[in-house]
Amino acid sequence: MKKRIFSGAQPTGNLHIGNYLGALKNWVALQNEFESLFCIVNLHAVTLPQEPKILKQKTLDLSRIYLAAGIDPTISTVFIQSDVSEHAELAWVLICLARMGELERMTQFKDKGKGNAERAGVGLFTYPVLMASDILLYQTDLVPIGQDQKQHLELTRDLAERFNRDYGETFAIPEAFIPPTGAKILSLQEPTKKMSKSDENLNGSIFLLDNADTIIKKVKRAVTDSGTEIKFDEARPAINNLLTIYQLLTGKTAAECEADFDGKGYGYFKTELAETIVEFLRPFQQRVKEFDDEELKNILKNGAEKAKTIARETLQTVYEKMGIVGASN
Ligand code: ATP
Ligand code: MG
Repeated sequence: MKKRIFSGAQPTGNLHIGNYLGALKNWVALQNEFESLFCIVNLHAVTLPQEPKILKQKTLDLSRIYLAAGIDPTISTVFIQSDVSEHAELAWVLICLARMGELERMTQFKDKGKGNAERAGVGLFTYPVLMASDILLYQTDLVPIGQDQKQHLELTRDLAERFNRDYGETFAIPEAFIPPTGAKILSLQEPTKKMSKSDENLNGSIFLLDNADTIIKKVKRAVTDSGTEIKFDEARPAINNLLTIYQLLTGKTAAECEADFDGKGYGYFKTELAETIVEFLRPFQQRVKEFDDEELKNILKNGAEKAKTIARETLQTVYEKMGIVGASN
């Protein structure tokens, strides 16, 4: 039996190169080796206010992006979270198992809630539990994610272990797959924080659907640190970040990347980097544009059916173990 992977992204804003390098690229690479489920997590998106029409559009756009990036629907299951109602049902059970204290320790809640717990939505507070539900429903073995999700995956493991201890062996305990490079691509404007879809400063992110002019402008405007050498250096996060993007897109070793820019300045480096990104994204953007809407809907419908079969079975087991039974069972 193949081991199983599950992962997802939120249809908030536009996918950026950090999402691609930290997550999507690895999904594509892992799908041949694992039985894979990739979800568009629209129920997560509403933890912050969304414009309904835009959310609807972004949900389909994100599905197209998964497929254009190389997710193969003939071997992987691609589906929209709200099509499988078991995600919300198991989330409720896990919310009852989770503790306020452990959720209060989640750093992303502090970031996204802007440190104001009084005004932050309850959904934003409990969102890591919905993520645990997404993963545990599928008896997932491995979860390919960026660095920012590591803490949420640890919570998922804790909740699974707690349930198994209290009600008997039920859930597989998932492991995180965090890539050694690219797990935390930083904002081009504030290289102390990660590139984010929800960042208000759009110049901080290169979006996968940005056109060539925009990419060139954003790379030119990217902040730099002191020093002039184009070298990997943890102490210089801005250049380190730009070189990491260059390395991952070209597939070169760190030494080869540094050799490319030996004796060269920032101007030359930024022009080369922008060109590399533009060329990398060109065929991808073409595939997104050409995707047939009917085909997309079929893929998502089939994906939801397949996912639901697995999810229903897990939820049924959970309900039985907890004594949650209705008139029909
Ligand atoms: P938002 O700001 O709306 O939360 P996001 O950019 O964090 O958006 P998500 O949809 O939350 O994107 O995350 C999708 C996947 O991308 C997750 O696996 C996450 O860990 C990964 N990811 C997000 N940002 C980065 C980044 N800057 N570098 C590497 N991986 C990232
Ligand atoms: Mg996020």
